[in-house]
Amino acid sequence: MRGVLFTLLVVVLCGVNCMPAKANKRGRAVEATVNGRTITSQDGLERAMGNFGRDIVRDDFSDSVTGEDVPNSFRFKAKELKNFQGTSVLGMLKQYGYLEVALGISEEEIDESDSIVDESIIRQSLKAFQKRYRLEVTGDLTDETKQLLATDRCGVKDVEYESSRAKRYVTSKNKWDKTELTYWYNPEKMTGDLPIETIKRETEESFQMWADHAGVTFREVAEERQADLTLSFEDGDHGDNWPFSGPGGVLAHAAYPTKGWLHFDDAEDFTSGTSDGIQFKQVVLHELGHNLGLKHSDVKSATMFPYYFGYTAELALDQDDILGIEDRLGKGKGTVIPLDGGDGDGDGDGPGPTEEADINNPPRCLEKIDAAFRYDKNPGYVYVFSGQWYYRLKPYDYENNNKLPWYDSEAGPKRIQDGFPGLPSNLDAVVENINNANQLYAFKGDKYFLFDTQSTSVVEQGTLADLWPSDPPSKIEGAFRRSNSEMGFLSGDKMWKYKSNSDEWAVAEPNSNYFASYPYQSISLGFYNRWTWIFQGNWYSVVRNYDGKVSAPYTYRPIINDIGLPMCSEGVGSLTTETKKKCKKELKKYKKKRSYKPSPECLEFIAENYSDSIDVELD
Ligand SMILES: [Zn+2]
Ligand SMILES: [Zn+2]
Repeated sequence: MRGVLFTLLVVVLCGVNCMPAKANKRGRAVEATVNGRTITSQDGLERAMGNFGRDIVRDDFSDSVTGEDVPNSFRFKAKELKNFQGTSVLGMLKQYGYLEVALGISEEEIDESDSIVDESIIRQSLKAFQKRYRLEVTGDLTDETKQLLATDRCGVKDVEYESSRAKRYVTSKNKWDKTELTYWYNPEKMTGDLPIETIKRETEESFQMWADHAGVTFREVAEERQADLTLSFEDGDHGDNWPFSGPGGVLAHAAYPTKGWLHFDDAEDFTSGTSDGIQFKQVVLHELGHNLGLKHSDVKSATMFPYYFGYTAELALDQDDILGIEDRLGKGKGTVIPLDGGDGDGDGDGPGPTEEADINNPPRCLEKIDAAFRYDKNPGYVYVFSGQWYYRLKPYDYENNNKLPWYDSEAGPKRIQDGFPGLPSNLDAVVENINNANQLYAFKGDKYFLFDTQSTSVVEQGTLADLWPSDPPSKIEGAFRRSNSEMGFLSGDKMWKYKSNSDEWAVAEPNSNYFASYPYQSISLGFYNRWTWIFQGNWYSVVRNYDGKVSAPYTYRPIINDIGLPMCSEGVGSLTTETKKKCKKELKKYKKKRSYKPSPECLEFIAENYSDSIDVELD
């Protein structure tokens, strides 16, 4: 929200001297006719254009149609368009590309052009807009057209006029020709709306969502000159051709390859995990799509659909987005490498000792499970790591040989710094050492830690390059015990292996990670008998550890029901009535069929409305 401050500053600096300049611009002479009347000034033209000319973003639609009418006939030169606000219908039709296509001139040319804009050009533009968004195609400024135009959205064009000269190069356009892209946050231009750690975490999670489907590595860099992609929050007129228009309207915009800037409108109130304000992650996920070469989609459920319809609890790419990214960057699975190794504290010092957690203030619930492992001693506890804390699971009904894990709430959440001193918080992965049942390996970024439970201390640590003789993974995303004599380490599309009592930390083949096609993000793995638990958000599934095949009764199960861990819920209050209906149907199917996979937007709904637990035994 730096916009307010900025405006105040300008007023203070230039005081009354600024006023005449502004008045001159608005009173500037124009040649135009509207409904047969000759118009001679810019602000006269704006007024005469009625509903086409004024700011509609802030309007209340129910009663705004009466009064000012749209003129029946008008003519003015295309260069006058630049003086209409970006929040007017004319400003939007220009900004989103519809007018340049109707006029048959490029955006750069419009601002100097004497081409005539008249009612037929505007009708043509409106028809193209209505057709794209499946509204009734009338060419008139209907209520539903205004309603959509007034919805917050991305500022990147929907359509673009391409001259025949530009078309010759179209095949090489909008594509990166490399598989590692570097990114940089402009430290001078971050926002006060959200902590920097939240901005970085949600940006990196968004990078990973795209990288889940493309063979690309995203690496953070410390300097702008090394960066392919640059992220900043900007105010108003910020030096490109597309000034932001204050709260509402355009939320952000971004460049296609091989330019890589991404600008967020700092006048918006960006938020995280709430339906108040604008959901930052939804916006960054969309804009990064442009940076990777994707254009706007007309599929409403797609991430690349330009309009923002409010908070979405479970963001996910649509098939349309996935086909797009595969086309731009090629199929594959990539990773994200932040400067701090992803410990999320934003201090840039990378994996290190656990930051002090407030012992009197344990978290109310778990945001996500970072890592888990089974300590193979009686009675076979499972330890779950989340942020700065860990939780113990005990065998459910051990007497009767049912070894499913259940949250030992009496033990409560404990600080990693107390139970596992020397291990960092926000771990990537943990696995027991098959050579020594009293030890475990913990991973974070490119670092590893060997922890001994007898001496409760880190007995060895180093980088992944110290363990792997050649081609080490950049980070470990998941680790598990494949068998009693073998550990598996996952990163991207590769699985590395280590056999007991050997020095061999094997080099992995591409596509050897049989979990890579798994439709989950943030995979954490905990070994339990011959089964591996995969955690994602509030859900878990159980798969066979030697081939990743999912156990049908344990497909997409709510963690809270079956394991008892208090997972945080993002709430379903923001779902539309239509989506809720859909989710109710899915809940029914889910109750009937244990292998049913709910759609991403219904996960939260089902987790909140499904109360059964499971008691099917795993062999
Ligand atoms: Zn966009
Ligand atoms: Zn910009």
